[in-house]
Amino acid sequence: MNETPRFDAYQRAIPEQLLPVRDDPFDAAVPPIYQTSLFLFDSYKELEDVFAGRSKKPIYSRGDNPTVMLLERRIAEMEGAEEARAFASGMGAIAASVLAFVGPGDRIVTVRHVYSDAFRFFEKVLKRFGVIVDYVDGTDTEAMLAALPGAKLAYLENPTSMVFELQDLTAIAEAARRHGVITIVDNSWATPLYQNPLAVGIDLVIHAASKYLGGQSDTVAGLVAGSRELIAKINSEIYPYTGAKLAPFEAWLVLRNLETLPFRIRHHHEAGLEVANWLKSSSAVGNVMHPAFADHAGKKTFSGFGGLFSFEVAENIDVATFVDALRLVRIGVSWGGPESLVVPAKAALSISPETNVFARFGVSERTIRLNVGLHDAKNVIADLEQALAAAAK
Ligand SMILES: *Cc1c(COP(=O)(O)O)cnc(C)c1O
Repeated sequence: MNETPRFDAYQRAIPEQLLPVRDDPFDAAVPPIYQTSLFLFDSYKELEDVFAGRSKKPIYSRGDNPTVMLLERRIAEMEGAEEARAFASGMGAIAASVLAFVGPGDRIVTVRHVYSDAFRFFEKVLKRFGVIVDYVDGTDTEAMLAALPGAKLAYLENPTSMVFELQDLTAIAEAARRHGVITIVDNSWATPLYQNPLAVGIDLVIHAASKYLGGQSDTVAGLVAGSRELIAKINSEIYPYTGAKLAPFEAWLVLRNLETLPFRIRHHHEAGLEVANWLKSSSAVGNVMHPAFADHAGKKTFSGFGGLFSFEVAENIDVATFVDALRLVRIGVSWGGPESLVVPAKAALSISPETNVFARFGVSERTIRLNVGLHDAKNVIADLEQALAAAAK
């Protein structure tokens, strides 16, 4: 495996059709924040040309905004996509990307242990509109391929949340194409630097930019990237009408933080592996659910790993005592920022059971999800070690 982030894939995208940056009258190094709701027209003809689609220019920021367009361009370039669309959150991108392609009676195939709010969106919203949702063990490629014929869409996440199960994206994408099934992958964990699902035939890639792309725990944002045709369908069917557009300032924050992504993700990769390997060797810990340790074809598409993974504490460790004894590592649900964080599955299992993905597909109460942030791995390990010792019965 190539463990060096692909800096070449990260080169600045400065497409000619985009006005900011290049056309800045002051040659500003950092793109301006176009904090405007509307754009003005010089003549009737200019207005009609834009309305009729004969020329392109932002009209109103619920549709297009130059700062947001620059972020969309950067993510499209990084994923090797023709186009991308930014949203107010990862869930905004997920909901729009699914709703653009399904209707009553359609069936979607997804994986067990899918992101918890994607699961709630499927259960609470899609099912109410008569969409059938099949949950499959994504590690079982035969079962995934068997579920595809007749489905409209396959919604994947490599790896899944909480238990980090893998899917063979190459095999699924190939079969989905044969059966005319649209494929979507949530790529938030690996980032475009460590996995490019479109390169193996996946149709659309989702990013919760609130995580690694934003990287500073200061922004909630989402994106979808794919072919011009599929993004046009999302634009014409859903995007302007649900109004989940990204604010220019938040797009600017993500653009700013993208500059450090290669350095941050390399740290998360290295420190995550160091901590995971230490946990694996600890007698106070059972199973370590890190994709590096999986013997599965779904690993092939990664050129590096995120710093988020889970482990099970041994039976003699009290979960609450362990979590409370941590000092450097804090308790919190998000990930991808500078903080090192834990989420104990035991607490997540207490969320109302009917739409609880952890209860539905079974997660051990001894599972702890760990986000290795920008801390030195040695300090994270020392904190885990003292907390495990404090919690041993
Ligand atoms: C957080 C997260 C999302 C949702 O992103 P938001 O910006 O919080 O809506 C989607 N997928 C994964 C894997 C996530 O961790």
